[in-house]
Amino acid sequence: MIVSRKFKRIKITANTPIAKPSNGQVSNGKINNLLLIGNGSEDGKEGKRYLLKGLRGLLNHSMMALAKQKGIEVCHSSDKVETQSGEKLIGEGYHPNGACYPEKECIRHQLMGSIKKKSVLRFETVVIISEKNKNGSITAQKMHIATEIRNSLVQGSKKAIQDFGERYVAGRFTLKIELLEEISQEELGFLLQSILYIPELGFGGAVNNGAGKISLEEVALQEVERTRMIKKGKVFEEENERNLWKEMEEGMSTW
Ligand SMILES: [Zn+2]
Repeated sequence: MIVSRKFKRIKITANTPIAKPSNGQVSNGKINNLLLIGNGSEDGKEGKRYLLKGLRGLLNHSMMALAKQKGIEVCHSSDKVETQSGEKLIGEGYHPNGACYPEKECIRHQLMGSIKKKSVLRFETVVIISEKNKNGSITAQKMHIATEIRNSLVQGSKKAIQDFGERYVAGRFTLKIELLEEISQEELGFLLQSILYIPELGFGGAVNNGAGKISLEEVALQEVERTRMIKKGKVFEEENERNLWKEMEEGMSTW
């Protein structure tokens, strides 16, 4: 018995010399900018596992910046025009998130959706483990993980008000974005261009202090066939990927 499914995806290999993923939430004085999702196996073969957050937001911002440069109006990340106190949230060239749907759906909404419509892009979570981990893992990627311990002192004394650790990552990672349905050549082209534009933006926090640089090493549109079967109670999964260079070029040539 075999089950299988074919789908398309975009596979991106990127590299960062140093990044502080997403703007951390603070709880109990600790900043969780790298979400811990596993403490490692008992035999010590697998270390702590973290979720690299903020990649979807990064693509969203890249789409906004690129559309602005091209003079195309797209959804803003905010669905409100102004704050309660009347400050403007949305700049020139944007409309509130989802306001274009369904009559005049913009290209960003076609791909990323909003509360009104689901996105056609599914981001595979990027789970990372420390590169110090000798054994590696099939579901996690290895990156360098550093923690900077910071503390705030009471003015004029050495007494700490709070201690907290901020995490930084460095190295190469792969991001896979699955296309949940067929997208048009124009949409594919815009998506690829937005990915190419990502290095112009910063990833995560401390960008003005030099963090968050990203370089792209590979971007490929792929057709994937994933199959799964049971043999004597054990489940085996296999993934075959094929690069779709021609389709990718056709998409890119629409812009
Ligand atoms: Zn829109």
